[in-house]
Amino acid sequence: MPFCKTLILPLQLIMPNLSQAIHHKLFGIVAEAAKEMNSDAYVIGGFVRDYLLDRPSKDADIVTAGDGVKLAEAAAAKLKVSKVAVYRNFGTAMFNYRNWQIEFVGARKESYRGDSRKPDVEPGTIKDDQLRRDFTINALAISLRQEDFGQLSDPFGGLDDLRNKLIRTPLDPDITFSDDPLRMMRAIRFATQLQFRIIPETFEAIRRNKERISIISQERITDELNKIILSREPSLGFKLLDDAGLLELIFPQFVALKGAEYIDGKGHKDNFSHTLEVLDRISVNTDDLWLRWSALLHDIAKPATKRFDKDTGWTFHGHEFRGMKMIPSIFSRLKLPMNEKMKYVQKLVQLHLRPIVLSQEEVTDSAVRRLLFDAGDDIDDLMTLCEADITSKNPEKVKRYMKNFEIVRQKLVEIEEKDRLRNWQPPVTGELIMKSFGIEPSKSVGIIKTAIREAILDGLIPNEFDAAYNFMVAEGAKLGLKIIDSTPLPDK
Ligand code: ATP
Repeated sequence: MPFCKTLILPLQLIMPNLSQAIHHKLFGIVAEAAKEMNSDAYVIGGFVRDYLLDRPSKDADIVTAGDGVKLAEAAAAKLKVSKVAVYRNFGTAMFNYRNWQIEFVGARKESYRGDSRKPDVEPGTIKDDQLRRDFTINALAISLRQEDFGQLSDPFGGLDDLRNKLIRTPLDPDITFSDDPLRMMRAIRFATQLQFRIIPETFEAIRRNKERISIISQERITDELNKIILSREPSLGFKLLDDAGLLELIFPQFVALKGAEYIDGKGHKDNFSHTLEVLDRISVNTDDLWLRWSALLHDIAKPATKRFDKDTGWTFHGHEFRGMKMIPSIFSRLKLPMNEKMKYVQKLVQLHLRPIVLSQEEVTDSAVRRLLFDAGDDIDDLMTLCEADITSKNPEKVKRYMKNFEIVRQKLVEIEEKDRLRNWQPPVTGELIMKSFGIEPSKSVGIIKTAIREAILDGLIPNEFDAAYNFMVAEGAKLGLKIIDSTPLPDK
């Protein structure tokens, strides 16, 4: 395949700080090792791209016209690094030096067959290797050869694309995406992370090749999705995924949020754009992937719970509970972890209306106590989610909500200080109830325990042992139980 153009530009003319990066001792040593092996070496890909974008990283890929593993071993020996991880199957090797991570690969030429994203690979030149890169901005390489050390090799106009903020494939985009459909997700991920535009020709090819995503493993797709979610403005990526027709294929439940229906002139908001707004709003306040996932899923059950009533209009009753129930199947399909992270997202989705409801009413101590009890340590994250969820176009309404929210926050602090209800365990345990009344595990134990907990949450009795004990005695009496042992439980 011919190169459109090969530009060799001196780095200093482009951006002075790039030459600084490449003059690090590490690159000098790699250059020396390559020279001794009579081989060429270049720094290539993300490191060069990110350095030019003033996002310096300590994660560099080196490509050599010779044997990548041997070059890694030779450079490591010179740097007195003893641990080199070698991946013979891939012909790659890597080591850590100080806080740098350097990966080596022998230049290769790739050819693809239709049913797999695993290409046939054979050794090639540096130019062959640049040709197999996904986007022009990822094919930039800096020479570590003695004769032109520090010069940029930019065969596809990647530098111009960096300046103009464009994502473009070096080769025919239909071939690029059909060969390895993961690149469609990567194009959208880079466009979102870097806030670049995908050129129309490239984007149209994503549209045409979207069905090919089916040959990519879910783990890799979800990896890219998570990177989109962790970007500064994740909605950009979701809109691109949707426009390309990929979102429907990889996350149909989310696409189901789309649309605003009208009956008798009464409409509801479009939950797709609302959710994306909430996701962007929460992303200003948190980098936590799971809190961002909670924002993404908070209204996921709205389509399933939507009803229209002549008097009340549109309702989505119980969508928080139904949403919580939908999460395991969504996590399982997307191969997200089915562990405490999922439980956390479930909890936030289930509770996401509570602070809002609270802020609409008079904020009573007992409602705040219940919220603290149910949310436990996740109360701050829940409040962050709820604040992001206030997306009304009516500024007066937003102001009112925010003011009430402030009151809820103050109350939360006051009551937490007073009652210490985060991760709270009632002062009287089931064990003590059984011992005191001389009863076996039974329904009565549950009834008494619940009554004590409710009395404390309602503020009928203080959150203290003596009050809870006396309350237990009274509740037991209602069930015909008498104290037969008033000694305390032994300390454990
Ligand atoms: P990030 O670290 O943010 O993921 P990156 O560009 O460093 O960005 P890597 O996945 O580490 O991404 O890939 C390193 C380089 O390898 C890329 O810059 C690109 O040149 C090339 N590359 C990675 N994946 C592909 C692919 N699927 N098709 C073609 N080239 C790829």
